[in-house]
Amino acid sequence: MKPFDYTAATSLDDAIRSGARPATRFIVGGTTIVDLMKLEVETPEHLVDLNPLGDSDRTLSSVTDLPGGGLRIGALARMSDVAWDARVKDGYPMLSQSLLLAASGQLRNMASMGGNLLQRTRCPYFRDTATPCNKRAPGSGCSALHGYNRSHAILGTSDHCIATHPSDLAVALAALGATIRVRGAGAERSIPATELHVLPGAHPEHETVLKPGDVITAIDIPALSFAKRSLYLKVRDRASYAFALASAAVAVDVANGRIRAARVALGGVGTKPWRSTAAERALVGKAVNATTFRTAANAAVAGAVPRKDNAFKIELAKRTLVRALTEVTA
Ligand SMILES: Cc1cc2nc3c(=O)[nH]c(=O)nc-3n(C[C@H](O)[C@H](O)[C@H](O)COP(=O)(O)OP(=O)(O)OC[C@H]3O[C@@H](n4cnc5c(N)ncnc54)[C@H](O)[C@@H]3O)c2cc1C
Ligand code: SF4
Repeated sequence: MKPFDYTAATSLDDAIRSGARPATRFIVGGTTIVDLMKLEVETPEHLVDLNPLGDSDRTLSSVTDLPGGGLRIGALARMSDVAWDARVKDGYPMLSQSLLLAASGQLRNMASMGGNLLQRTRCPYFRDTATPCNKRAPGSGCSALHGYNRSHAILGTSDHCIATHPSDLAVALAALGATIRVRGAGAERSIPATELHVLPGAHPEHETVLKPGDVITAIDIPALSFAKRSLYLKVRDRASYAFALASAAVAVDVANGRIRAARVALGGVGTKPWRSTAAERALVGKAVNATTFRTAANAAVAGAVPRKDNAFKIELAKRTLVRALTEVTA
């Protein structure tokens, strides 16, 4: 690990100021940043610890009710605390499930909500400094394009990067229409969860719309009555402690055997959390049956670009979505 200095943030303004310096990273649970520093994939000179901010302002580290319905989840809240919060479990099952199906119990006790959204890809070439990787070393090339790419993305890829976004939580937030609250040099702003991450294009080193020094303060979950009928289904190589090969976050409003409203997002297949409004349109107004679900699944993966080892993900993503819709409407 390269040498670095560590400071604890004394206020939000102090964190924003310190975070805007070059070669600076925030740390909360450390479950992403410390790993990457050990691998020398990330080599910050300054680490700024955001945890003390949660002691002085509890809304940064807890779940609170929003006036008019919905929840505000502090960015420093731990994944396990949020997953077991009764309001999250009962009102937004997909959100709780996306957290509980991620990582391990120990990691979830350490890992924060904001850190989860900003975790880096698990592409093995990104984590191996001996191989070219445009995301880690811009312009060096993409080892995955013609390398071993079984775990890589089929949606939103470019000729410069095909890495999947690894967060389960971000997929549920995309489906729920959540917004991410951010404080930076200017006033606090809200970013739709679907717009926090950007497609790789020619610059996969740019992963989000955040600017240096920006602190995620909270995640707002809107009131959505039919989110009670929601599900996060994750398909992976082993039953726990593995990232998604494909996942689906679904919420469905059903009346008299027909779908009145639907939310659909896919994980494990996109370069960013993948909300599919095309699949939602294919569901609304239709009867609850296998044909409807299959049509929506076809719409969800339209335009997918498979590579040498990951063509199976097209059918896997479709089956994952069909199964999620079948289970949630049963
Ligand atoms: C073995 C293993 C398995 C895992 N499996 C899964 C899985 O199946 N699914 C899944 O979704 N995740 C998984 N994860 C990822 C894990 O959930 C994340 O590492 C964790 O959520 C990151 O949170 P943290 O608080 O530890 O972040 P840190 O490591 O402290 O920070 C991560 C990054 O986010 C930035 N950051 C953190 N908080 C803020 C903030 N509030 N504002 C601005 N920037 C911020 C930091 O600067 C840093 O760059 C796994 C991790 C490991 C190690
Ligand atoms: S897929 Fe992206 S992260 Fe992986 S090697 Fe290529 S550029 Fe790097």
